[in-house]
Amino acid sequence: LVSAANHTKRSTVRVGGVPIGPDTFTLIAGPCAVETPEQTYASALLAKRAGATILRGGAYKPRSSPYAFQGLGLDGLKVLAEVREATGLPFVTEVLDTKDVEDVAEHADMLQVGTRNMQNFGLLQAVGGTGKPVMLKRGLAATYEEWLMAAEYIAQRGNLDIVLCERGIRGFEPSIRNMFDVSAVPMMQILSHLPIIVDPSHAAGRRDLVVPLARAGIAAGADGVMVDVHPNPEAALVDGAQALTGESLDELAQAVTTLPALLGRT
Ligand code: PEP
Repeated sequence: LVSAANHTKRSTVRVGGVPIGPDTFTLIAGPCAVETPEQTYASALLAKRAGATILRGGAYKPRSSPYAFQGLGLDGLKVLAEVREATGLPFVTEVLDTKDVEDVAEHADMLQVGTRNMQNFGLLQAVGGTGKPVMLKRGLAATYEEWLMAAEYIAQRGNLDIVLCERGIRGFEPSIRNMFDVSAVPMMQILSHLPIIVDPSHAAGRRDLVVPLARAGIAAGADGVMVDVHPNPEAALVDGAQALTGESLDELAQAVTTLPALLGRT
């Protein structure tokens, strides 16, 4: 279902009316985690100023440590919905557990399945069953085949509104968090008709690499970029080191407006 075979054209997925696909370029930005209504709204304004058309933000956070901030859960979804109302930006947010799929689908415009859950087959089937667009991040050590088979679980439920997201895979270099696999972009476009975007924030784990990696993803032909932004990264409860400031997001916006046009995208 997700293979490029039998598809003459690559697909476009609409998220609250915003297209992600081959004929356009989409910037998604927002806080790693929803912390407060004020911080989420401020992040959304920075995202919007930079030209983002979709907001991101985690209400349920997959943290390595059980003692770390786990997200606001349902309250976080409500904050995101209020910010959508105030800014007009549709939002994507992660769902970690099948028990929360209904709540997330009720509030969000797109459901994200994160790297740690890429092969959580029950969750994939459940998000597939909601009929909402799904962003499927690549697993920490997933091959292209495994990633596409995970997408197939969603598609089998009758839902082909799937966007793949390359977010880096486990490497051996400690100074960066993950290895950004730029080959994944053209390879997914060869193997599948689904749109593919990149998340340089979770690949790099550090702010100063986010813009260069985003440029690399765009140059490789990505259909969009998703980045973390925070009004005060030093005070962020999750992943502050990788969050762009408003200024660095504007720098990314430069690349987003000029590079895709050079490659024939609007
Ligand atoms: C995220 O996007 O908030 C996230 C946790 O991403 P990943 O699953 O890629 O680590």
